[in-house]
Parts: sequence; C-alpha cells; structure tokens
Amino acid sequence: MTTKIIHFKVNGKLETAEFGSDVSAADVKDLFRAAAEAEPHHILKMYNREGTVVKISPRLEANSRESYYRLEVVASDLQGVATASDLDNMEHRLHHLESRVLQDVGTTPDIMSELKSHVESFRRKLESVEHLSWIGLFKDDGDQHLAKSPPKPRTPQLNVQEERQQVRRKFLNISSLQVTEEVRELLKTPIFDNWQWEEAEMLVLLQVMFTNLDFLTAFHIELEVLQNFLFEVYCHYNNIPFHNFQHCFCVTQMMYGLIWLTDLRNKLGRTDLFIMLTSALCHDLDHPGYNNVYQINAQTDLALRYNDISPLENHHCAVAFGILAKPECNILKNLSSEQYKHIRGGMIKCILATDMAQHNEILNRFRSIQSAFDFSNKEHKEVLMKIMVKVSDISNEARPMAVAAPWLDCLLQEFFNQSDREKQKGLPVSPFMDRDKVSKPSSQTSFIRFVLLPLFSELSKLFPCLEQHILEPVGRALEYYSVMEKASRDEEATTKP
Ligand SMILES: [Zn+2]
Repeated sequence: MTTKIIHFKVNGKLETAEFGSDVSAADVKDLFRAAAEAEPHHILKMYNREGTVVKISPRLEANSRESYYRLEVVASDLQGVATASDLDNMEHRLHHLESRVLQDVGTTPDIMSELKSHVESFRRKLESVEHLSWIGLFKDDGDQHLAKSPPKPRTPQLNVQEERQQVRRKFLNISSLQVTEEVRELLKTPIFDNWQWEEAEMLVLLQVMFTNLDFLTAFHIELEVLQNFLFEVYCHYNNIPFHNFQHCFCVTQMMYGLIWLTDLRNKLGRTDLFIMLTSALCHDLDHPGYNNVYQINAQTDLALRYNDISPLENHHCAVAFGILAKPECNILKNLSSEQYKHIRGGMIKCILATDMAQHNEILNRFRSIQSAFDFSNKEHKEVLMKIMVKVSDISNEARPMAVAAPWLDCLLQEFFNQSDREKQKGLPVSPFMDRDKVSKPSSQTSFIRFVLLPLFSELSKLFPCLEQHILEPVGRALEYYSVMEKASRDEEATTKP
C-alpha cells in the first residue's frame, strides 16, 4: 500500500494530510472537513495553485510543500462573523463603554442604543442557527479536531424518487449558507468547473445566481417558491449522458457569466436578463437523449405532437411552463398579466432558438444588425437574447480543457446510444453519431471551425471583452484537436499497408 502526502493551507496554517491508496472517499472528505473545522452541512472545496477547484477524493494528486493546496469552507453559516463567545466579548465591551459614556455625559447617546439593538438582534440571529449547526456534531470532550462523523455507508441503488428527495433535503439544508466571495466571483466566469460540485450544491449556486441578479426583489419571488421551482427543474432533467442537469447548470452558469462579463445589467432590462437566465435553465427540460432527427424519423409522440417542427425544443418549453403552472413553483405568480405574457413570449423565443436547425438563420440575422446594433431596439434585443442563449448552450469548448474534455465524451456517448438505436430500428444514421465512423478530433475541429468560431466571433464584435474569455479558449481547443486529428491521420497512413 502506498501512502501519499498532501500539503494544504487551511485557516492560514500550512498542514499535511497523509492517507493510503485504499482509503475511502468518505474518509478523505471527513479528514479534510475535520482539518477545516467545518460542520457536516458546510460546503468544502480545495483549490490548487492556479485557483481552480480540485476534487477532494482519494485520487487527489500528491504535492509538495511549495505547491500546497488551499482548503476553504466555501459556504457556511454567517460567514466571517463572530461566534457566540466573540459576541459575549463584544457585548461586554459595549457595556463597559456605555457606563463610561454615562459617567461623562449623563445619558446614553442614540448611536449607542442603536448599536446595542444591532448587537442584540445579531445575537438572536446567531442563536437561531447555532443550535442547528452543532447538533450531534462534535464530541463534547473539547478535542473537536479529531471528532469525525462516521463514514457514510454506500447506498445501494436508490430509486430515483428517493435519490431526488435526498438532493432536495440536502439542498434545503444548505440553501441558507453564505457562499464565499471567491466562489461568487468564480461563478461569473467561464472557467467555473461544474465537475467539482454535487447536485444539491449546484441548486444552491443557481439560487445564488437568481439572488445576485436581484430577481427575487424585482419579480417579488419568495425564496421558497424559487427553491421549489429549481428543485422541480432538477427533477425534470433525465439521467442521460449529456443533456442532463449538469448540462442545464453549465448553460445557466455560462449565461450568468456572460451577463456579468458583458455588463448586460447596464444595457438590458431586468426582465430581459430574467428571460435569458430562466430560458438557459429550462432549455433542455426532459430531453430524452435522442435528437430531433431521430424524433422525426422514428415518428415519436413528440414529433407527432409538434408536427416535426422543433419537437424537442417545443417540448422543453412546454415542460417549463408545466412546472410554472404549479402554484408552489410559480416564480412568475406575483407579476402582472402583461409582465407574464412578455416573459412567456421571451422564453418561448429563446428556448426554440436553441434548435440548431435555426442556427444559420439566427446567426445571419445577428450579423446583419451587428454593425448598427441598438440596445433600445426591440428586435435587436430579441436577436441578441437568442444568440446569448445559443452561445451558452454550446459553450463547453470555451471552458478550460479539463472541464470541456469530459463533456465531449458525454456527448459522443449520447450520440452513440442514438445511432445504435437507429441501426437497431433500421432508421437512417447520422454519420457524426456513428461509433464506427466518427473520430473525436475530427468531429470537434469541424464543429469548432464551422459553428463555434463564426458564432462566438460575431458576439465578440459586439462585446470585445469576450475575445479573451470565450473566443481565445475556443481557438486553443481548435489547435489542440487539430494536432490530435493530424496525429491520428499520420498514424493511419503509416499503419495502412
Ligand atoms: Zn442544451
């Protein structure tokens, strides 16, 4: 058995952890949780020297003292604020100050009464959460560093329903945590790594996005209704290789990032931003894992219902409004009927625009208005919103290679599933989905050349800052896959007789 040593900094101190190759994932998590003195419901992440999040797992790469990781509690209760004992201290000092002022002045100044009432209300707030976070966590022997929650037994094949309820419980349990500024900032960039976050945590991050864009205040959304809505959205994504909840999260997060990078908050109205973010969130709801061509060729129920016209996108949108039809999930319920109509219309347009069959038409329209783009022109705005949703939808290659690469495998897996089924049913097979014909690099180079680059560069003309954030990474991905493509061609040439 080999052991590895991990150097990491936590709470300003450099520490080391040592574990063997046979250690369980739960034990590793518990080890670092104890080191960070974090509570079980807090969210813990490890950062490498580049500031990217790395997975806390037995496969964590060993490092040197100089290249230590940084362990952070990225979401916790009442962050950066005092504990009850600090508060005792504060109250004591305040009391002392008050009696001195009383001696000098004879009365308690207003500002002091105000300060006292702040401290008092803060204490109530602290006490109301503190009892929750300490229940059964630490052994009461003062040796809190060593106390660990017992490793969770691996749950055997939970049924989907039970698994979802677990995610819901966890989501609600951690939804009130304060997410660190660092994570909030990371969330606004295309380098955010979705693979390091669990589903319940992603739901919290989605809640952060809605909150940070002031949607709750602007549209009078109750937090509980938003949480129900987000959870229902999560439930309506299927467990398939690519078009799953992770994809939904990535697209929404990219949209969120684009909104900040392009400073759209100062260029479009709050309603337009809401339409874009919510459309991104809902744009693939209940995706069955087989594309429109399959739906139409196999004459599925969806193709019949929507007369072969964007069957999937029509379905995603219909499912979205089905969720919103439930009062407990209806984040639009406090809007006027005018506002509702406007948002519904906008979401329908944005979600239907994600059908790649519309790609050239939408891109050409955007090209034609680009040079004279006017943010106050209704039609211009509509095209831009569609483009933003489209860009977010196919933005994986704008992410760091380590994040993007697994997505390509997921996509190919879903394609292969489809072509296998098409072969089995005697339906036409798209060559780019055929496991016998497609090669990873060649499929990527043409997709990047003919779809991504033209689309991304057009958007970057309107927002030059995007060059660095999405255009350049896509260029690097093209270079990477071109080299790979050439290598595999050369190899083919030498192995062929
Ligand atoms: Zn999508």
